[in-house]
Amino acid sequence: MPRSKPNASPRTTPRRAAATRTPRPKAVSPTKASSVAGARRAAGSSRRRIKRARTVGPTTGVLITGGASGIGRATAEAMAEVGRPVALLDRDGAGARKAARAIGERTGVRAVAIECDVTDRATLPEVVAKAAVDLETLGGFVHGAGIDGASMVEELDEALWDAVIEVNLTAGALLTREVIPHLRRAGAGSGIVYISSIEGWFGNLVLPAYCSSKAGVLGLTRSVAQSLAPDGIRVNAVCPGAIDTPLLRPAFAFPGVLDGIIAKTPMGRLGQPEEIAAVVRFLLSDDASFITGQHLTADGGMSSVAGV
Ligand code: NDP
Repeated sequence: MPRSKPNASPRTTPRRAAATRTPRPKAVSPTKASSVAGARRAAGSSRRRIKRARTVGPTTGVLITGGASGIGRATAEAMAEVGRPVALLDRDGAGARKAARAIGERTGVRAVAIECDVTDRATLPEVVAKAAVDLETLGGFVHGAGIDGASMVEELDEALWDAVIEVNLTAGALLTREVIPHLRRAGAGSGIVYISSIEGWFGNLVLPAYCSSKAGVLGLTRSVAQSLAPDGIRVNAVCPGAIDTPLLRPAFAFPGVLDGIIAKTPMGRLGQPEEIAAVVRFLLSDDASFITGQHLTADGGMSSVAGV
């Protein structure tokens, strides 16, 4: 219990306390913040806000890109199973609507579809605003939309390179910018998960753009995590191995590809989208309350094996 002099009046005590308080940091002007030093100063002043951060249970809505298919759809299902409303964003509007309907019927939790191509930059602010209205609160964001785009570097297809980087990496960053105010409003305990890949760590002869985009996602993860940690908002990535989804399946048409993947996976099988969704759900839950700026690999052991 705090001790005070017996004759200290209730008016003088707070004044004394005020006199010994640490001086407030000076406001940083937006122009100063545009330099690296200015941005650091701005980050420093936001870091001081940490003391005021509340912890709220993660019961808020989650926006999931790529929600019509594969890992995104399974993630939407996993979040709804624990009672979190979900917005399934996808360029495949019909697929997103079908998935949202099925999830809503099965779980009884609000699931909405948003048709959007994430490369259409101008629409992203309005799309995020719509998700926040539809879900009432927006406390989670998962960037799962992704494309691969095979083109060896010797004959690099520039349009393909741009498309892969735009969908997998740039859209994730631009959507993050739009989502941040909503996550801050939802409060500490909110979070972001980016779907990277073990190919964010390894090279792939025919997928240089894909590997570069997924490595970029890991850099994005660590950077955004630093921005949002003072608010108690956690930002992580998942690195899946080979997962049985429509993205990977076309590769099985090539002789030996599926067998090769199985042979390189100590667990001897493909992963299922639900196994990645479970990792995302963990990272967005309070069970992961001290984990931020990290990636979690789920690959059946593939990346644990030396290549010799
Ligand atoms: P899917 O193809 O099953 O799902 C991806 C979804 O994203 C599709 O519905 C796709 O639509 C949608 N999408 C693609 N481009 C856009 C866009 N411009 N705007 C909006 N939506 C878009 O793939 P996965 O579930 O396998 O992939 C999910 C994430 O997981 C991706 O980031 C992928 O790179 C990553 N990943 C997947 C692995 C795997 O083995 N499957 C391994 C490691 C990482 P459409 O069908 O029209 O393309």
